[in-house]
Amino acid sequence: MSKLAIDGGSPVRDTYLAYGRQYIDNKDIEVVVELLKGDYLTTGPTVSEFENKVANYVGAKYGVAVSNGTAALHMACHAAGIGPGDEVLVPAITFAASSNCVLYCGGTPIFVDIDPKTYNIDVNKIEDKITEKTKAIIPVDFSGQAVDMDKILEIAEKYNLIVIEDAAHALGGEYKNRKIGTKAHMTEFSFHPVKPVTTAEGGIIVTNDKDLYEKMILFRSHGITRNKNLMSDYHGPWYYEQIDLGYNYRLTDLQCALGISQMDKIDSFIKRRREIVALYNEAFKKLEEINIPFEEEFSNSGWHIYVITLNLDKLKVGRKEVFEALQKENIGVNVHYLPVYLHPYYTKLGYEKGLCPAAEDIYNRMITIPLFPAMTDRDVEDVISAIKKVINNYKI
Ligand SMILES: *Cc1c(COP(=O)(O)O)cnc(C)c1O
Repeated sequence: MSKLAIDGGSPVRDTYLAYGRQYIDNKDIEVVVELLKGDYLTTGPTVSEFENKVANYVGAKYGVAVSNGTAALHMACHAAGIGPGDEVLVPAITFAASSNCVLYCGGTPIFVDIDPKTYNIDVNKIEDKITEKTKAIIPVDFSGQAVDMDKILEIAEKYNLIVIEDAAHALGGEYKNRKIGTKAHMTEFSFHPVKPVTTAEGGIIVTNDKDLYEKMILFRSHGITRNKNLMSDYHGPWYYEQIDLGYNYRLTDLQCALGISQMDKIDSFIKRRREIVALYNEAFKKLEEINIPFEEEFSNSGWHIYVITLNLDKLKVGRKEVFEALQKENIGVNVHYLPVYLHPYYTKLGYEKGLCPAAEDIYNRMITIPLFPAMTDRDVEDVISAIKKVINNYKI
């Protein structure tokens, strides 16, 4: 058995492999440089071009692009009318932005435990958390795998709830053979560099609802309108009115140009991600010490991340030791995520350990391993070798 790098052996590879990163080619660079020579760096025509490109890709009517995915979720919560006294259901395992957006609006996030197979919100536990104060649900397509949206919408209809799908991981993924992005009232995508396509920072809400769309357009830019139909007065051509309290959450034309170029490649990105996942699944399925991701029949994931879970009763060490050993082999690993309510900001608000037992158990066993379209076959082999090496050293 070869000696682990953490014990002084030589690492599986010499350079550190990130767990995720962007894929930028010459075309991406060219379009950004061209944009810089043009008239509009921001508030120009490239913004709606990008919005239409994303909306068309997923099959939605409208898109509102904003400065990041978190701003998009804030915008959606505002458009949904979430305010003080309102409760919003959020899965326990997600990035903090999924529930911070509720707090921004003065609402109260209510955490729902996850399904231990998919790590997505447990649809069978949603109704237990609904009260007369519940206003919305924010399901998250964790790792790119679709939530069971038909079941969620059924519950939402019964209790008159708004559904905001946090699909930050899931652009290009499918639910029942349709692209994610048309079922919920609003769907958010993120364009952070590790996400399916990037604009450096960026996010979007897609929707089929015109009212929500109009509210979001206002919210993105100070609540200001130049639409005469919405104004209460008109002093002349210079005139505009602020009719709501909004933010400056605009995405620049520069970023949208990059986004358009990235969208031209999304299908090839996802194809590569799926190839790598197939290689991982094949390599790991016989290792009893780890579990590979489980995918539901109705989902065709875009595979934002690949998460393994450890069977700790078959290992001599815990997740931390496995994690550190992989890092020392020069394999970029990560953990997605600490249950949100265990962050100190949330525990100070009164949330307590024990709230979502399945989420807490999975958190203690999960590791995200590298997955991004620019990975070479050699990179993939290195990850597989490193996992096997570490598991072989640590298995009972
Ligand atoms: C990335 C992400 C977001 C949005 O993040 P931004 O960095 O603001 O674009 C929201 N929710 C989840 C689950 C995410 O992973």
